[in-house]
Amino acid sequence: MKSYDIIILGGGPGGYVAAIKAAQEDMKVALIEKDVVGGVCLNWGCIPTKAMLKTAKVYSQFMHASDYGLKISDTSVVEVDLKAIKKRKDKIVKRLTNGVKGLLKKNGVDVYNGFGEVKDPHTVTVNDETLETKKLILATGSHPFIPPIEGLKDAVESARAVTAKGVLELEELPKTMTVIGGGVIGVEFATLYSNLGTKVTVVEMEDRILTLIDDDIRDQYMKLFLNDNIDLKLNAKVTKVNDDQVTYEFDGQEHTVQSDKILVSIGTRPNMKGLEALDLEMTENGVKTNDKLETNIEDVYAIGDMNGKAMLAHVASKEGIVAVENIAGKKTHIDYFKVPSGIYGFPEIAYVGVTEQQAKAQGIDYIVSQFPLSANGKALAEGESDGLIKLIAAKKYNELIGMHILSPNATDMISEGVIAMELESTADEIAASIHPHPTLSESIMEAAHGVVDKPIHL
Ligand SMILES: Cc1cc2nc3c(=O)[nH]c(=O)nc-3n(C[C@H](O)[C@H](O)[C@H](O)COP(=O)(O)OP(=O)(O)OC[C@H]3O[C@@H](n4cnc5c(N)ncnc54)[C@H](O)[C@@H]3O)c2cc1C
Repeated sequence: MKSYDIIILGGGPGGYVAAIKAAQEDMKVALIEKDVVGGVCLNWGCIPTKAMLKTAKVYSQFMHASDYGLKISDTSVVEVDLKAIKKRKDKIVKRLTNGVKGLLKKNGVDVYNGFGEVKDPHTVTVNDETLETKKLILATGSHPFIPPIEGLKDAVESARAVTAKGVLELEELPKTMTVIGGGVIGVEFATLYSNLGTKVTVVEMEDRILTLIDDDIRDQYMKLFLNDNIDLKLNAKVTKVNDDQVTYEFDGQEHTVQSDKILVSIGTRPNMKGLEALDLEMTENGVKTNDKLETNIEDVYAIGDMNGKAMLAHVASKEGIVAVENIAGKKTHIDYFKVPSGIYGFPEIAYVGVTEQQAKAQGIDYIVSQFPLSANGKALAEGESDGLIKLIAAKKYNELIGMHILSPNATDMISEGVIAMELESTADEIAASIHPHPTLSESIMEAAHGVVDKPIHL
């Protein structure tokens, strides 16, 4: 029987990063993956969607080329070729998953391609082989949740309704689509398909979409999100799905919306198949873990989507590193307060730390400063000046406790806020840091000036 220091179940961004880290710590490590390494993120999530969103952006910019001084006599000749878009997406995915395979090999990780079944905390079977291990890291991820709405299960089975994975596999661009759920993934797909020309209706039960973002960011984003191709139904509870028709309740009355495709995007559930032998303690969202990623069972860790703490690839990866470092005796932990989040709309949204609403609710004495992108030279030069930077600082020392960005490349810029918060920086230090010109990130410096005193260019 083969023996390992660590066996990792699941090769997504949680599992494969943990495997590489464990190998770097000189441990003998095995990674078991039933499908393709890279998990949801590389194969069906983060990367494929961003590759396709890029096409939607190019298409939309092409349609508005005259804004940039380019004459196109007939934009109607530009066709969306979904097959070619998917081909490009698949090429990028393949390149990245092959890259991960190469890294695992280079680091000496034993990769088993098969379904791993846990027999006890120190024994796992895969492809009729039994492996033993000192420590076990569970990284099996999550799957889309199909709520018990009348007719929805049938609609999914007949492919009339699809989940995030299925919507990437469509052979033809649907003329109309109903997105059930106005969370991050629903909004990203609504952005993608509406910009490619599909008429999208988003049906959301709450009174707003993207419930976790700061209100000022949402207010401005909403004006940009609602283009000619998007219809938004808020306070709308879906009660029935019948063939291509979605029925929802609004204001005590029944309404229906008909479309070529239905996308269900209202959350996920942890993948627990193969783990039945473990008596894992669960929370409402997934496997219960502490900030070292330990579960209630000695020598068993749970990382990534399956613990339900934050359904993000970079969180899964960080948790993988933290789990391995703890196994190696390094006593590290993850601080969920400093986790950045990104939403890939047009423009992007990114944030870290508290929203103003949370700061208020927590009774924090804070200062808030906003700087509009319309006062930023690069944003104007690029023709994308809708957006803002919002900083929240604790009044006592001007320490940064929240950064919220609505801007092109917001998801790249937010790292400045993450590092500032990691270093417990004050707005004074951000304002004092020389930012290159012209850049969008100068707006962060300007907003920091606004905390300390006043922005210069406003
Ligand atoms: C459409 C979409 C877009 C997204 N965009 C982003 C984004 O832009 N940024 C971001 O941070 N996050 C994004 N996410 C979320 C991100 O994909 C997940 O948070 C991330 O993939 C979680 O990583 P993980 O390693 O925990 O699990 P997964 O990526 O789900 O990997 C788990 C792996 O375990 C394998 N597995 C499960 N059970 C077993 C078993 N018993 N034996 C062997 N193998 C098993 C599965 O095959 C899978 O490969 C997106 C998700 C979706 C659906």
